[in-house]
Amino acid sequence: MAVAETKSFQNYIDGEWGDAARGETFESVSPATGELIGVFPRSGGEDVDRAVAAAKAAYEKWRLVPAPRRGEILFRFGQLLIDQKDELALLMTREMGKVLPEAGGDVQEAVDMSFYMAGEGRRLFGHTTPSELPDKFNMSVRMPIGVIGVITPWNFPIAIPSWKIAPALVCGNTVVFKPATDTPLLGERFVELLAAAGVPKGVVNIVHGGGGEVGDRLVRHPDVPVITLTGSRETGVEVLRAAADGLKHVHLELGGKNAVIVMDDADLELAVDGIVWSAFGTSGQRCTAASRVIVHERVYDELASRLVVAAEKLRLGPGWEPDTDVGPVINKTALEKIHSYTEIGEGEGARLLTGGEVATGDGLGQGFYYRPTIFGDVEAQMRIAQEEIFGPTTALIRVGDVDEAIRVANGIRFGLSSSIFTRDVNTAFRAMRDLETGITYVNAGTIGAEVHLPFGGTKETGNGHREAGQAALDVFTEWKSIYVDYSGRLQKAQIDTAET
Ligand code: NAD
Repeated sequence: MAVAETKSFQNYIDGEWGDAARGETFESVSPATGELIGVFPRSGGEDVDRAVAAAKAAYEKWRLVPAPRRGEILFRFGQLLIDQKDELALLMTREMGKVLPEAGGDVQEAVDMSFYMAGEGRRLFGHTTPSELPDKFNMSVRMPIGVIGVITPWNFPIAIPSWKIAPALVCGNTVVFKPATDTPLLGERFVELLAAAGVPKGVVNIVHGGGGEVGDRLVRHPDVPVITLTGSRETGVEVLRAAADGLKHVHLELGGKNAVIVMDDADLELAVDGIVWSAFGTSGQRCTAASRVIVHERVYDELASRLVVAAEKLRLGPGWEPDTDVGPVINKTALEKIHSYTEIGEGEGARLLTGGEVATGDGLGQGFYYRPTIFGDVEAQMRIAQEEIFGPTTALIRVGDVDEAIRVANGIRFGLSSSIFTRDVNTAFRAMRDLETGITYVNAGTIGAEVHLPFGGTKETGNGHREAGQAALDVFTEWKSIYVDYSGRLQKAQIDTAET
């Protein structure tokens, strides 16, 4: 395939592109082939400080731009994403590895989010409510907060930044964005398009570099009151600790260990399709990936054998080849971690039904490919059924009834997504009520969120916030209650109770 010329890329601070102050760099390489994608600034604290100062200064004007005008910029941004969807999707396949149709879906999610939040510019609804006193008017309105520190992972390199930056901007905040070091070029393109859509200088800034340097400085910076992070549970804990001294608002979207439940009355063909898509889509590197399949004992053997056949049909390869079903995983460290869980599973006594190895044939040795892997006879407490592997590995657990299925599904520290395949409406409603996750699907896999519904998880998947939909506005605004007394005299709430 044609490969664009490799280039050096820069930070974008206060409307200017520039190198890191210390002049250091890092490389982004394709997980599919090892091809060099680009060279990026390895920034330090001084670069973060400059970006925060620019964002803080820009905030004073941006917060006063009428929200519908801010929304119009997001509309233009969404349109630019549509115009460049194919190019961005191909770039994503090269830099991050997901197959082309999924990369297109990632860009589409950002289009949807931009349009949704653009419309929010004409809503941002508050409340009016009666006063307990005469000739007095009460309302509550959403206020912007200031500079938002946006820290993102590599697995949805266009969609996740949009889930944070679009609502942050429409609400009147400014942004310092640190993308993952595995997908810096997509982060760079995202900001370039925002600037092209008309975002004024200083309102969005990008600083490339590692979590321990750029990310940590952003989290600790006294002029950054809000941090929004999507990443692993471990990073979430570190960020929460680092932000504690500043009493910052911290929005965390963390890991998952999501389960599909298959009941004995399920449409098995549909269930197999849903499980294969949820377990092996994006090579299992979705926070909502189905890494556990909880199966009623009456259909366990049948489902297991159908799943193995389906998994073995999947073709591994670079995501831009039209017959590729599963692309590479993100890097060598991820490949080694995923393989270590195969060894852990076998050591725990689970039965490896298929996969369990690094794929190197047919030219795959240049990249990081892992065979879709299914373990059978998994016990609910085994590590492969408890820990996030973040790769194309799923674990089949046998249960006797719906009560046990729900108990097993809930028996983990995470609470992001869940799904149940059943034709029984009573069973479906029990699952909707009792599964302890932020998202539940009925007769569909664990993946496929839409941008106008809240997105996020219970328990250790997060800290109670939600992305997307109206719920996202709570992360990026603070409520202000306003009382207007037009009686012309001093009226005391709770004291002048006899007045009419
Ligand atoms: P990660 O935690 O390694 O990194 C996420 C981001 O945090 C990166 O930009 C990284 O540089 C930065 N970071 C790391 N240490 C930091 C620190 N001390 N201070 C500030 N920033 C720091 O995660 P990843 O490997 O990029 O992504 C995979 C993880 O993300 C998985 O656990 C997955 O479940 C999770 N994820 C969750 C959701 C969700 O919505 N719940 C969505 C996608 C991914």
